[in-house]
Amino acid sequence: MRAVALDYETRTLDRVDIPDPKPPESGEALIRVLATGVCGTDRDLAEFRFGYPPPGEHHLVLGHEALGQVVATGPEVAALKPGDWVAPMVRRACSPACLSCARGRSDLCLTGRYTERGIMGAHGYFCQYAKDRAADLVPVPPEIVDVAVLAEPLSVVEKAVEMGLRLHPGRPETALILGAGTIGILSALLLRELGLSVVVLSAEPPDSSRAALLRDAGFEYTNVPGPRAGLIIEATGSPAAAMAGLASLDPLGVLIILGAPRSEGELPLRDLLVGNRVIAGSVNSGPGHWAAAMRHLGVFDRRFLNRLITRMPFDAFHESIAGAPAGTPKVIHIFD
Ligand code: BGC
Repeated sequence: MRAVALDYETRTLDRVDIPDPKPPESGEALIRVLATGVCGTDRDLAEFRFGYPPPGEHHLVLGHEALGQVVATGPEVAALKPGDWVAPMVRRACSPACLSCARGRSDLCLTGRYTERGIMGAHGYFCQYAKDRAADLVPVPPEIVDVAVLAEPLSVVEKAVEMGLRLHPGRPETALILGAGTIGILSALLLRELGLSVVVLSAEPPDSSRAALLRDAGFEYTNVPGPRAGLIIEATGSPAAAMAGLASLDPLGVLIILGAPRSEGELPLRDLLVGNRVIAGSVNSGPGHWAAAMRHLGVFDRRFLNRLITRMPFDAFHESIAGAPAGTPKVIHIFD
């Protein structure tokens, strides 16, 4: 079958032919992949900044945001049947399982020896068929199939928001989103849905298409730092933006880091201390966050969600991974 993979020997991204998965065994399901989303992580992977192939192999099939349809199930799979729509979770437990992985929360893995499909040590879904434990496949309600590839990034947002609200000792009324990519926009949608007043701050000028998109959806957008908030979600990947975000935190405020890979400059420890402020990181998502993401995809304005997406054919991967077309935060490859 065809697949899109990184070759760690030649350091190239290419279309490759790989064997079809074997028939599903007990507890497993075989899926046909219908669509795969591309995000900043795929672009970092394609620059060989992180990630690695499965043991003993030199290529890694990309694709960790996916929509599939069950083709066959092995014995002892009661929850899924052929024809069901599913989205695979990304992370797989460490072995032997740590306490978090053992209770189904590999997103909170304690050892760091987990794998992630399409990212670390396990092939992804930028291919025609894939096999998984049924427990790693989240059912997709048929009525949200057109936007279901957004469930993975939204599940990451669900976890970050849950953490932010839990860490805040009061009830934040205002949220500041740093970054106007898919994660930033989904964060804005979710926090508004939860009743917070939301401002999005990003580098794009106010007349950019992303700013217009956000304004059309009723969000306040600015590219000038200044608005303060009780809950800040960093979704920029920029250390400088993350550090600048700290200066916008109200007392008791919580800043959740979702993208910035490192800090630059001095942490304002005194401000954190005197203002009871919190800074925390969040990665990946658990089954509860996936369920919440599926629910919220059914609630958010569908027309707006579709405006976030550019659909491309399978083979256009060089174009999407080298950079998203201007204005659309999310590229999804639709497989024929
Ligand atoms: C994915 C997460 C993953 C993280 C780190 C993100 O792009 O959405 O599921 O845990 O990358 O590899």
